[in-house]
Amino acid sequence: MNCASASAFLLFLSLSAPILAGESGLNSLPEVDFARLSQGDLNPLGAKALAIHPEQWKHAETEHFIYHFVHSYVATPISVEAEFHYRVVAKELEREQPAGDTKSHIYIFERPEAWQQFQALGQLEPWTGGIHSAGSLFIKRDPSYKFAGNLLGHEIAHLVLHRFYSEGIPCWLHEGFAQYVSKGARASYQRARGYNARPRSHAVAAQDVIPLSALVAALHPLPECVETFYDQSERLVRFLVATDKRSFLALLDALRRHQHFEAAFLHAYGTKFLSTAALETQFREYASKDSSPPDASEG
Ligand SMILES: [Zn+2]
Repeated sequence: MNCASASAFLLFLSLSAPILAGESGLNSLPEVDFARLSQGDLNPLGAKALAIHPEQWKHAETEHFIYHFVHSYVATPISVEAEFHYRVVAKELEREQPAGDTKSHIYIFERPEAWQQFQALGQLEPWTGGIHSAGSLFIKRDPSYKFAGNLLGHEIAHLVLHRFYSEGIPCWLHEGFAQYVSKGARASYQRARGYNARPRSHAVAAQDVIPLSALVAALHPLPECVETFYDQSERLVRFLVATDKRSFLALLDALRRHQHFEAAFLHAYGTKFLSTAALETQFREYASKDSSPPDASEG
């Protein structure tokens, strides 16, 4: 191998290191000095995180994310999942980020006492136990424990949504889309590895269905029915995407501009539903259906 091809090979290795590491444990995410990271984090919680045991933090970055972590063998598989979910979400939203745009920061705690100290500063997401704030993600990861199911994918989906819709979108849509896309992504990841997997969408018992007006107005997952809130939001996103993807993207765009749900919905789906009451009737039935519905994100 001559010098030029050797360096091209090394470049290939360094670019593909996170993928190789995630798949086989061969290579880990290359560490970067804090001062040499391509971007800083303006989120004040980021500085607070790094001030907890400052000596513990190492840093690295991939195309769309910057990582702050303790052990690279913990951060490496997270970086693989993060970039994987970035692509899935961008494809689902039919968006692509301009080159050189800002990256999202992910802080990975390992020590329980450091995490406890940090947790007091932010609001834990009841579903995943992570904290996402203004486009940055803070998680606790026990090196001996793998994130169950789609929890990490769910949080990554929030980060990517925040980049594309930084003006803010309603809580049901943030949570519902994060659940919807991370379940679909997990199933396709497993299928790519030969498993016969389909996204597992949870039905909501008919008597538990939250009235649409309460769901779309909620600013946080409703504390008295957190699980139902997530399941129903996921089902609503799934229903709207399956009904018509173009209309869903139009609805997302209107809600990003903080329009009221009813006006935004009728504008996007007016040829299919006469009113939000008609939506509610059809959706109630769909929400409580047990079988895995057809998934528009598959294929
Ligand atoms: Zn969430």
